[in-house]
Formats: sequence, structure tokens, C-alpha cells
Amino acid sequence: MQSKLFVLAAAFGAFVLNAAAWDYEGHHAVNEMALASLPANFPAFALTPEARTRITFLAGEPDRWRNVTSTRNGTGLALGHCSGPDHYLDLEDLKDYDLTPETLPPFRYVFVADIVKARLAHPERFPEIDPAKNSDHTRELSGFLPWAISENFQKLQSCFATLAALEKAGGTADEIANARQDILYVMGVMGHYVGDASQPLHATMYHHGWTTNNNPNHYGTSPTFHAWIDGTFFKKTGGIDMGRLLPKVVPAEKMATENPDAIFRAAVKFVVEDNQLVEPLYQLDKSGKLSNKGNAGAEGREFLEGRMLKSGQLLGSLWLTAWQTAPEDTFLERELQQRAAAAATNNPAATTPAQPANLRLKE
Ligand SMILES: [Zn+2]
Ligand SMILES: [Zn+2]
Repeated sequence: MQSKLFVLAAAFGAFVLNAAAWDYEGHHAVNEMALASLPANFPAFALTPEARTRITFLAGEPDRWRNVTSTRNGTGLALGHCSGPDHYLDLEDLKDYDLTPETLPPFRYVFVADIVKARLAHPERFPEIDPAKNSDHTRELSGFLPWAISENFQKLQSCFATLAALEKAGGTADEIANARQDILYVMGVMGHYVGDASQPLHATMYHHGWTTNNNPNHYGTSPTFHAWIDGTFFKKTGGIDMGRLLPKVVPAEKMATENPDAIFRAAVKFVVEDNQLVEPLYQLDKSGKLSNKGNAGAEGREFLEGRMLKSGQLLGSLWLTAWQTAPEDTFLERELQQRAAAAATNNPAATTPAQPANLRLKE
């Protein structure tokens, strides 16, 4: 009996840990809205029907990494450890590290060091962690959502810089095609994290119910509340209404990047605003406005779709900004120029810089 209970508890724990962010439909919607916000002069290869399908499919990628990880079957623990906390930030934890949103370090591992230092200096602040519920060793952490967003933003800048160098300095058709695929990949995957950042339960310690003794407003304590908000509510009420959402999308705007921390700070601000909606979300739940009965959930739907729209807008602006602010990759340009010069010296007839490298090797 005891072992049976343990299996049940373990299964339940796994469910809680693996609960997705917005479900695939929600993340898909966020990336779709971000695409709709882009200007017509955004690089055309990213706006073809095939590219749109790819980018929206990738909105679900970081959740797919979690499908086989963690306590469910004991596989993929390293992946769960390194990528699981990227989906959230339990903002209330910061005070335990003597940090505020404004003093959060923009570097992920500096934040980890801050956590370690606080845990050593003030063990009394941190409840003991049950090893049985911590097989991927993420419970010591509080999440890395704003870091995941800013790191992916810089990856996208790097991808655009690579493409620009290849286009300018004689990259082959294959190289250019690959660089374009990389851009679509990073655009899609980073969309997942920007999507997570508008789900209030991804910005709070109360992520699976108001699980604390301090609950004077008697908010819901059910751990299934998270899955309800991530997607069950929409599944039971006819899905996300893209026909209503897409017309609300406004053009993406270039964000300020003069300060090297600017995108990280913008991501933190977005998560803080999300956290401020945690209580309103629990209030909606308490007053039955997130119910699937009849039209009772209309206000809840408005609220949740509004959150997804916010993510779609931020994501579009991040993509636009990464494209417009990508630095020039002078190192790659020099390498390409040297390659072209060497090819011309070895074979003066082959002066076409766009000639594929593999063809040159055969000559
Ligand atoms: Zn979630
Ligand atoms: Zn997520």
C-alpha cells in the first residue's frame, strides 16, 4: 500500500513539475501574433507560409524537451535541470536572496551564485527540499525566465549578424540557406519563453494553487489550476479565438538597446507586470469567471487572451529589434574574404564568390 501511495505521489509530483506553460495552442497563438506584428520589410524569407509554419511549430519546442524528462520516467534529467527553470521565475523568492527585480543581475550564473550565497548565509529562510521530489535538482532554483528571453534575443542578433556577413562577403547559397534556417529556429524557440512570461502563474511562487498558510482571501489551492489556465480552460470553451485576437495586433516597435542590459531589464519588467496579475487571476477564479459553464468564463477568456496578445507584441518587437540591431560580424566577413581570395589564387577561373565550397574542393 505504502509503495502504491508513493507511486501515486510521484506521479502527481511529475504532473505538477511537468505542467506545460500555455499549452501548444497558446504558444502557437503567441508566435502567430508576433508574426502578424512584423513590418512588410522584415526579411522576406521569415515571412513565407513555410517559415510561418516552422516558427509557430517551434513555439512548442521547449515544452517538448520536458515531455520525457524529470520524475516521470527518470530520463532526461540533465535536460530537465538545465532547461526546466527557463520557463518561469518565482518572483516572491527574490527577497530571500536579498534581491529585487531592479537588482537582479543580468548574468544567469551570477544569479545562481547569489542564490548559493543566500542559502549558505541564511539557511533559516529556506525550507528543506525533499530529494524524492527533486530528482532534476531544480527546486533550489527560482527560475530563469528573463535570462532565457535575453539570451535568446542575443542568439537571434548573432544569427542575423551571421546571415548579413554571409550575404555581404560571399557566403555560399547553402551557407545562406542554413543561416536563414537558424534564424527561424531561434525566433520560434524564443517565442516560447516570451509566451511563458505573460502567464501569471509562471511569475509566482503560487504557481500550482495558493499553497501557503497565508491565504486570507481564500484563493484556490488546487494544483490543477495551473493546467486549467495553461490550456484546459480554452480546450473546454472552444479554443483560442484567433479571429478576435489577430485584428488587435499592432505593429512591432524597435526597443531601446543602448544599454547592454536593456533587453534583460525589459524582460524583467514584463515578468514583474505578469506577477502583478497573479492575484487578479486568482480573484477571477474565485468568482467563477474562469469557469467553462455557459458564458461564465467570458471575462476570464478576455483576461487570458489579453495576456497572450501582450506576449505576441513583445515577441514581435524583440524579433524586429534583434534584426535591426544585429552587430556587423567583421570576423566572419574577413574569413569569407580570405576564403574567396584563396579560391581565386588557387583557381583564377573560379572568381564567383558564391560558388559552393564543396564544388571548389573537387576542383
Ligand atoms: Zn504553465
Ligand atoms: Zn514554458
